[in-house]
Amino acid sequence: MLHERIVGDELEPILRKVQAGERLSFDDGVLLYRTKNLAGVGHLANIVRERKHGAKTYYVRNQHINYTNICNKFCKFCSFYAKKGGPAPYEMSLDEVRMALRKHKDEPITEIHSVGGINPRLPYSYYMDLLRVMKEERPGVHVKAFTAVEIAEIARVGKVSMEQALRDLIEAGLDSLPGGGIEILSDRVHEELFGRKLRGEEWLEVARIAAKLGLKQYATMLYGHIETDEERVDHLIQLRELQDETKHFLCMTPLSFHPENTELEEVPHPTGDDDLRNIAVSRLMLDNFDHIKSFWIMNSPAVTQVALWYGADDADGTVFEYEITYEDGDFGNKSQALHPANMVAMIREAGRIPVERDSHYNEIVRDEEPSLPPQRIPLPMARA
Ligand code: SF4
Repeated sequence: MLHERIVGDELEPILRKVQAGERLSFDDGVLLYRTKNLAGVGHLANIVRERKHGAKTYYVRNQHINYTNICNKFCKFCSFYAKKGGPAPYEMSLDEVRMALRKHKDEPITEIHSVGGINPRLPYSYYMDLLRVMKEERPGVHVKAFTAVEIAEIARVGKVSMEQALRDLIEAGLDSLPGGGIEILSDRVHEELFGRKLRGEEWLEVARIAAKLGLKQYATMLYGHIETDEERVDHLIQLRELQDETKHFLCMTPLSFHPENTELEEVPHPTGDDDLRNIAVSRLMLDNFDHIKSFWIMNSPAVTQVALWYGADDADGTVFEYEITYEDGDFGNKSQALHPANMVAMIREAGRIPVERDSHYNEIVRDEEPSLPPQRIPLPMARA
C-alpha cells in the first residue's frame, strides 16, 4: 500500500506495469514528464534502479581530453566552440596531449574520454595518432572517444566510409564511443539548433555500424532547451528500439542544457525538477539499458546525491580537465575534478554503496580505499 500512497491514482497504472516488468508506452512517458508528482516518478524509477542494482552506485576514474575547440558547426546551444567574445581557439598538438596525460600520471585512471569540435584543419592521421598517443602514455586504459558527428568528419577528411574510419580508429586504439553528437533525435530541434550537424538518421547509422564492429556506446539526451516533452519521450523510445536491435549501449546519461555563453541565453537554467525527472523518466522508459548516469558536473554533486534515489546508479567519474561546460568564460579555472575519496564520500552520504567500475561496468577492487582527509562535498561547479 505504501507504493500506491506515494504514486497516487494518476501514476498507479504505471506502478502496475513497473511491478510487472512491462514496457512503458509513449503516453506513459509523456505523463511522467507532465505529472506534478515528481516524488511519485522518482519512487517508480527507484523501484527499477534497486531491482537492477540494489544500493550499488558506480563511478569510474577517468580523464577528459578535449583536443580542439575549433568547430564549423556553430550549434546554438554550445558554449564550447571558439568564437569572437568567447573561448579562444585551441588545437592540442600530440605533445600537448602527452603533457596533459602525464600531468595526472599518478592517478590510477582506467578511462580516457576524448571529444572535440569539428575542426576541418585536422588531417585523418591526427585522430589515429591521438589514439596511439593515449595508448602509449596510458597502456591498458580504455579510450572512449569521438561522437558520431566527429566520426562523420573523420570519414570525410579521410575520404573513406564511416565503417572504414571506425575500423581504422579501432585499430589505432578506440575502445568505445561516447554519447553526444545528436542531442535529441528530432528533425525540428535539429533544424532550429544544430542544422549543420549530422541528422538523426545519420547518427543512428553511425551507432549501427559501431555495434556491427563490436564497439560499445554510451547514449545521451540534452534537455532543457527548446524540446517538448513528446520529443524527449520520442528520443528515449528511439534509443530503446535501437538497443533492442543492437544491445550495444552501456549507459544513458541525460544532460542538462546550460544556457550561459550560448545563443540561447534567454532559456532558463535547468532546475532540480528537470534534472531529477529526466533521470527518473530515462530509467523508467529505457528498460533495456542497464545503467543511468547522473553527470555530476552538469547536475552538481548535490543533485546527483538525490538522483541516486531517482533512478541513477552511476555518478560518472573523477573527471580531469573537463571543458565543455564552463562559467563566465573562465578558462583559468577550467579543471573540474572530484577526488575518488570525495566521490566515495558523496555516494556514501547519499546512503548508497560506492563501487568503482571500468568502462564496461566490471567492478574494480583495489587494495586500499581512496583516501584524503575527510572533506566537504564541493558546491555545484557548473551551475551559475
Ligand atoms: Fe561543434 Fe559540438 Fe559545439 Fe556543435 S556541440 S558547435 S559540433 S563542438
